[in-house]
Amino acid sequence: MESVDQLLNTCQEGLPKVISFDMDGTLVDGEFPRWVWNCLIPSLYSKATGISLEESKVYVYSEYEKVGPNKLEFFDIDYWFKYFNLSKGFLSEKPVSVYSDVLPTLKKLTDFTLVVSSSSSKEIVNIELDATNMSKYFSHVFSAPSDFREVTKSLSFYQKVCDVLKVNPRSVIHIGDEILSDCLVPGFLGIRSFYLNRLGSKHMSEALNLDCIFSLEELPSRIYG
Ligand SMILES: [Mg+2]
Repeated sequence: MESVDQLLNTCQEGLPKVISFDMDGTLVDGEFPRWVWNCLIPSLYSKATGISLEESKVYVYSEYEKVGPNKLEFFDIDYWFKYFNLSKGFLSEKPVSVYSDVLPTLKKLTDFTLVVSSSSSKEIVNIELDATNMSKYFSHVFSAPSDFREVTKSLSFYQKVCDVLKVNPRSVIHIGDEILSDCLVPGFLGIRSFYLNRLGSKHMSEALNLDCIFSLEELPSRIYG
């Protein structure tokens, strides 16, 4: 005869252990990194050199392009502040906007280990989490470039996340707003993924038969069934 513990384990076998969230576009609106790269750095460089803001933008953006998004330094704030010889210290000036459905949802997911899996640098993600008082909800923050030297959330990124957490991919759920890196890639590994379609737009997600949600508040009922 099965013990109570065995019965409980049997009942919980179908539930995931870990819920992983993308950051920008999923938990926060993604304006903060755009502001850092497109406004803060050109503005500081303009002040430091005396050239106009428009001239500074042209130069700074061209230097970004020379490196390109296939290289790790492209995502590295320290690299760019040193490259342009700028001093850091202005990063807290921009408020970070958390989506209104995030905190109510996180508070309902207390049965799970919650983690962040982002393609941004760890520094950016930690600033966003601290600015929105969300750090306390997450046991781990995984940054593809900072933790695993990957420029995108690849199959090996998700495998490494599972390895660190010591879980089978089938025990993980991932949610994000990018079809490829948040849904298809983790899906190949066996991670159940949800496409967060905040705009409610009709497009490839239907053709690809993805699990789609329009608000994070749909998540608890979709997970518990
Ligand atoms: Mg995203």
